[in-house]
Amino acid sequence: MTIALATLTRNTARVATTVILTLVPAYLGMVALAVARELWLRAPLDWTVLRQDPLDPHNATVGLMYVGFLLLELVAHGWNNSPLRRILFGDRRSDRSDLFYIIADATGLMKLLIVVMTCGVSAAFEAAIDAGNMRLAADLPLWAAVPLLYVSVDFATYWGHRFMHSPLMWPLHAIHHAAEDMTVLTSSRHHPFDNFFGSVWFLLPAGLLGFSPDAMGWAILFLTAHSFLLHSSLPFPVWLERYVVAGPRAHRIHHAADPACYDCNFGLFVIWDRMFGTYRMQGDVTGLATGVADQRYETGRPFHDMLEVTRIWLDGLREVFPAPIGESVSRSRIVSP
Ligand SMILES: [Zn+2]
Ligand SMILES: [Zn+2]
Repeated sequence: MTIALATLTRNTARVATTVILTLVPAYLGMVALAVARELWLRAPLDWTVLRQDPLDPHNATVGLMYVGFLLLELVAHGWNNSPLRRILFGDRRSDRSDLFYIIADATGLMKLLIVVMTCGVSAAFEAAIDAGNMRLAADLPLWAAVPLLYVSVDFATYWGHRFMHSPLMWPLHAIHHAAEDMTVLTSSRHHPFDNFFGSVWFLLPAGLLGFSPDAMGWAILFLTAHSFLLHSSLPFPVWLERYVVAGPRAHRIHHAADPACYDCNFGLFVIWDRMFGTYRMQGDVTGLATGVADQRYETGRPFHDMLEVTRIWLDGLREVFPAPIGESVSRSRIVSP
């Protein structure tokens, strides 16, 4: 009991220290960005990102969904095998990183990092999408708009996800795949650039077709719940995974460290993977190990890893651009044994 409490205290202290140490450079970066924009562009930066409220209804709903999924896994697998026990009392740096990413998401720290690390490009992209809004779907009733948006976003995300698996983008996405085991918390684990590109795949269909804010809000909630399900180890009917939607089994294969499983099961709906030849399924996935071999993606220091991965990615870009994509930087080289 005493050892468990000591581990819980140590884990909490480590995650809290990382969050605070990440906040400081993120705020300083935001100030530097604002000064630079004022001096060179004479344009102020949108400071609303600094006023993220962890108790805003959307963040609170997502937080409750995390708790709900963790409790479902507790019921399904028992305390000793539950991710909740591992996250609170385990000693794996991968679980602590997962926890850091959900805190960054829930507190708005991740949004801040996205603005700072993209030097404001993310905000400019949102403004451009807003300007190009064609309002084609704005008046659809919710029952039609939400499924249509879900399918369009999934189609865009299928190709976006494949793009993130290309040699050019893999270093950024590898942070997500570096989770040594999958829990519902793994769904938040994304490099800020990976998150930015994720918003691009969402905003292209949602913003340009001009869905209503209500339709977007509901679609985001369903997409988030689906992502939680994919990263959980909850039981899910295999026939649904074969013919309708991806579930925990399909996504564990997607995350598997075995090279035979690379680059498959990108979509939420099975149809895209089946149409474009990336579908893969097996009944029992319990023995499939996850993670990436390159330790630089998971050192137990998430903020350090973010910066290091950015450097690896920029180095890769410098190598790739003079030569055709895929020849000079390969996944096997980046994820070295
Ligand atoms: Zn992936
Ligand atoms: Zn995943």
